[in-house]
Amino acid sequence: MKVYFDNAATTPVHQEVIKVITSSLATNFGNPSSSHHSGREAKAQLEESRRKIAKIIGAKPSEIIFNSCGTESNNAVVYNAVKNMHVKTIYTTKIEHPAIFQTVQNYQNDVQIVYLPLTKSGQVDLTKLHAILAINQGPALVTVMHANNEMGALNDLKELARIAKSYPEIYVHSDMVQTMGHLPIDMHEILVDFATASAHKFHGPKGVGFMYVRQTTPLCAMITGGSQERGFRSGTENLASIAGMATALELATTDLPKDIAYLESLRTVFREKIKAIIPEIQFLTPEEGSLCTVLSTIFPTRFDSDALLFQLDMKGIACSGGSACSSGANKPSHVLAQFDIPAGCKVVRFSFSKFNNLDEVDYCVDKIKELQDELKHSMA
Ligand code: PLP
Repeated sequence: MKVYFDNAATTPVHQEVIKVITSSLATNFGNPSSSHHSGREAKAQLEESRRKIAKIIGAKPSEIIFNSCGTESNNAVVYNAVKNMHVKTIYTTKIEHPAIFQTVQNYQNDVQIVYLPLTKSGQVDLTKLHAILAINQGPALVTVMHANNEMGALNDLKELARIAKSYPEIYVHSDMVQTMGHLPIDMHEILVDFATASAHKFHGPKGVGFMYVRQTTPLCAMITGGSQERGFRSGTENLASIAGMATALELATTDLPKDIAYLESLRTVFREKIKAIIPEIQFLTPEEGSLCTVLSTIFPTRFDSDALLFQLDMKGIACSGGSACSSGANKPSHVLAQFDIPAGCKVVRFSFSKFNNLDEVDYCVDKIKELQDELKHSMA
């Protein structure tokens, strides 16, 4: 049996999405910028996709800009903030995805970087946010992720954005890559100016995403040279993938409350069963205020931390040690460094989708028990 518990890294593409993509590739090959019938057909599918996405997230179609991925949106927002809005300060956290964390640091000579304090559970401490923003001077960007990809902490983004927007000259961005298509999102209620989304995290294709930019928010292009996306993101649109992304978001959000309840229960069963076989296991993912798809665990030192992921893989279980983006690189994650992880312990992130089931949970727990038994025998 093969079990895929690495859905925070990427998700399997939905079969309906594959149909939409292949049909678009086969029948709608025109360039949306061409004025003849073939171009017009492509343009129609492009704009229909934009309308679908906008409607789902409570936005206007003109507020959706298609691009290549979450990393690009994050870079574009920071670039726009520094080069176009001339922000003096960027307020962010030490547990952002590298596409924000590193990109912000690239501008450390241009702006002041302020890291917002976090609670023990990894959420921005909203009780301290007022005091920090009250002394802000000049235009500033607050960029805080909705949910953390490595350990699942979920911010109260609605409240965070409300607080931040109550101060003058503050723009708010949220990296919503892990929550778009996973939680109900309504941009009428979440007062961010910018948001980042990526199709491959909600059963869409890789290499396509979108940036939400609230109307009237100043924006400049990071990629120039064409007039696509109203000049804000040049380059011929990846139409088939964009159409697939719109379908993926539709499918991901059709039954959200039911899917969330299902994922919560799957994760609870997993948490309880794994705790029953390894009583000393700890959970980095907080019980309250976390994303239902993620369970980040801290295995005790008797497990071989270097070999654990490989051993699980050999038993057919795909999961991850922290962020997929840094796994393989022998560098400790800047995110995990913010938490008290006992020396020699391995953090393993199991992340779920609605396509996982209880049999897979049982299989995975059985295999972990097998690993533990093998350890006992080798030590005997
Ligand atoms: N932001 C977060 C929170 C992520 O988890 C990821 C991917 O892991 C990204 C950004 C990057 O997205 P993409 O893979 O579309 O570039």
